[in-house]
Amino acid sequence: MPPVSPGGRCGCYAAAGLGWVTAVPANLDPPPPHERRRWRLDAAPPTDGWVEFYVHRRDCAQAQCTDRLLTGQEALGRLADPDATLPCPVCRPDRVLTVAS
Ligand SMILES: [Zn+2]
Repeated sequence: MPPVSPGGRCGCYAAAGLGWVTAVPANLDPPPPHERRRWRLDAAPPTDGWVEFYVHRRDCAQAQCTDRLLTGQEALGRLADPDATLPCPVCRPDRVLTVAS
């Protein structure tokens, strides 16, 4: 049984022709909005003891915790339950927060 190979077209040829794609810096292709983690979840201060968490902008100086980052969608989901999570009164993420952010 002869090998089934059409010949003439191979993946190497296409890859060589598209070599310029790999020259585009990765930072020109940001992740889609639902993967951008631009919001920060932090424990609420004792003065707001009735809620458990604050949502901050990522660069807010009031936020203590640096490793609990949220996407816009996650942050909105948190703020949908005001008994548990409030927007930080200093940086007010709710003023600019959208799913696309
Ligand atoms: Zn804040």
